[in-house]
Amino acid sequence: MTRQLIFATRNAAKLRELRELLALDGVLLLSLAERPDAPEIAETGATFAENATLKAVGIAGATGLGAIADDSGLEVDALGGAPGVRYAGEGAGDDARIELLLRNLAQVPEAERTARFRCAVAYAEPGAPGPALLFEGSCEGRILLARRGRGGFGYDPVFFCPELGQTFAEAPAEEKHRVSHRGRAMRQLVAALRARLAR
Ligand code: IMP
Repeated sequence: MTRQLIFATRNAAKLRELRELLALDGVLLLSLAERPDAPEIAETGATFAENATLKAVGIAGATGLGAIADDSGLEVDALGGAPGVRYAGEGAGDDARIELLLRNLAQVPEAERTARFRCAVAYAEPGAPGPALLFEGSCEGRILLARRGRGGFGYDPVFFCPELGQTFAEAPAEEKHRVSHRGRAMRQLVAALRARLAR
């Protein structure tokens, strides 16, 4: 029997990453692209976990399918944790967001440019008021003075990851997934989902 689950995201780059990470036998993974009628869920939570939960619960309720949602972002220590759960520049593209970040850090020396990506991922089933599963992952690094690499998305070109010895945009996708916030959160979710769906 093939079971249908839905990713509560409209971000094509994230969807690609989530599909790479979440290959589950017997599960057909839909996205919001296949359910255009699904409502937009406002990310009004104060944490990544709250936003992932809001989206998973909202989309499960609206579609009648088990729903997976993630919320993620970058925390820069010298900026007091910004951009954090809020987008830096609503509606701005990746390039503009990177420009703004580099401008805000212009006076900050290399040793103080520490940062981390965080990701929360939630799985909810229709009718339930809260998530059935919720996991978090993070990845430490620092913000470079200029972009390096062409892969990935978002802040990847300026996020240097010491564990990889390169930026997320220079690393091959599998390498990024091995250490990334989303990879770490999603692998926990995949293991728990496997066990849950096998019941
Ligand atoms: P959201 O999870 O879609 O709300 O993402 C919040 C912000 O963090 C966006 O600006 C994303 O581009 C950025 N972001 C989240 N994950 C990553 C990543 O793996 N690489 C680069 N940027 C990311």
